[in-house]
Amino acid sequence: MNNYSIDDWLHANFDVRPVSSSDELTICCPFCSNDTKYHMYVSTVKPVAYCHKCGWAGGYIKLIQEHTGTESYAEAFRQLTKPTVNINDYQTVVQQLRQRKLEPIKLTEMPEWYVPFIPDSMLQVKPNVPNAKLALRYALKRLSIDEIVHYGIGYCDDVNHQLALRLIIPIERGYYQARAINTHSRQKYINPTFEIEDRLFNAQALTQYKHIFITEGAISAIAVGMDAVATLGANGATALQRKRLVRSKVERFTIIVEPEAVAHRKAIELADYLAGYGKRITLRLYRSGDPADEGIFVDKPYSMAMKLGSV
Ligand SMILES: [Zn+2]
Repeated sequence: MNNYSIDDWLHANFDVRPVSSSDELTICCPFCSNDTKYHMYVSTVKPVAYCHKCGWAGGYIKLIQEHTGTESYAEAFRQLTKPTVNINDYQTVVQQLRQRKLEPIKLTEMPEWYVPFIPDSMLQVKPNVPNAKLALRYALKRLSIDEIVHYGIGYCDDVNHQLALRLIIPIERGYYQARAINTHSRQKYINPTFEIEDRLFNAQALTQYKHIFITEGAISAIAVGMDAVATLGANGATALQRKRLVRSKVERFTIIVEPEAVAHRKAIELADYLAGYGKRITLRLYRSGDPADEGIFVDKPYSMAMKLGSV
């Protein structure tokens, strides 16, 4: 049983949430009468599942048999091992893309293995190469087709490359982020080994809008809209990114602050810097979640008083 992926079966049948720094995935238990809090834990390394609410316990096959109502072991096993991306869905997506005639943003200097999800390249995808379909399936859960094409979201065409099972998010001048599509992958993002310098995700927005939103992650920026850029760094904006933001004609910035304390400190530093050059600043403070999952936030105009501890 080496070819199965419980991960794929779960994603095809449930809303799946990974457990951070664990090899487990959680789902709302299908055997509890109304579990809405993801009580069932499914290991991705051992074929076992357990519900912390109703106590249901069993292996993958039992889970599939009871969820689908089949008593056949062979049928359950087929579900576990069948190709998980529905090729019909894939063709439908390609069709939709072709009808839309969308133009992707201009991208330069991307590595040779990078292929964007634009209609022409998607038609060349070989059905027996799983990378593209897995990456596209992952992308479609979070982004619209228009967004995927507009931002040049793509995949790694080389199955032997370390970035093969990742969604490739192009940034600028050869820089990219490679996001894991396996929810239990250790490293969520892999970036190139060279410095990001002044590169920003969706930097073209700086020339198109007077009011810009700043997020840390690219997926968050996409969720916010075409007027959002992302700095991508876990360490906040780089000095060169800050200078670029200041030199732009943008008059107003809204800095998206996700709930972790460290994000808050970095946002204040960036707000200070930009405000010092006369930019109008708003902090969008997320109480829970983030832009991509429609989290809850409040907007606060930035002032020095906030820096002194009243946030
Ligand atoms: Zn249960």
